[in-house]
Amino acid sequence: MKAGVIAVQGDVAEHAEAVRRAATAHGESAEVVEVRDSGIVPDCDVLLMPGGESTTISRLIHREGIAAEIREHVAADKPVLATCAGLIVCSRDAKDDRVDALGLVDVSVDRNAFGRQKDSFEAKVPVEGLSEPFHAVFIRAPAIDEVGEGVETLATVDGRPVAVRDGPVLATSFHPELTADSRIHDLAFFPDSEVEA
Ligand code: GLN
Repeated sequence: MKAGVIAVQGDVAEHAEAVRRAATAHGESAEVVEVRDSGIVPDCDVLLMPGGESTTISRLIHREGIAAEIREHVAADKPVLATCAGLIVCSRDAKDDRVDALGLVDVSVDRNAFGRQKDSFEAKVPVEGLSEPFHAVFIRAPAIDEVGEGVETLATVDGRPVAVRDGPVLATSFHPELTADSRIHDLAFFPDSEVEA
């Protein structure tokens, strides 16, 4: 499996490690490539869109011609895991002119709605498709405030969606790559077979 981590900005190494772990748990091996230029995404089987700063990630993927390739990847029904800033960039509406949202996940988001850096928090969150709750790390996390009809909500915190699936894209407000538990990467890339945490 060839996995591309959009690496223009954000927490790239952690996602690379998590997707390798998820693949190993499924008896596969993942070749991880970092995507900073156009021409790489078309060869990838799965994509990861990390957390970071959504305004910066948005600007760079459009400038480098990567945005159009991500859209084609999703149109071909290939999996994407988008986390935190990645979710913001993939949303339909980020309510911020500096984010040219890709419209790949039919949700609108409020950037930083869960608070500023000092308000980051962790929570045990039950997730649809996982038998045990997931230890979720939220860092200046976006809240999802409108969910389109075709979108499945997989997890909520205080009644607000924090993990959703829209076709081949799984998106989370939190950072599943920051713990040793790769079950969210499993759900995104191996949806039919849960393995032990
Ligand atoms: N607050 C950041 C943004 O709006 C996202 C934070 C994160 O990815 N941890 O882009």
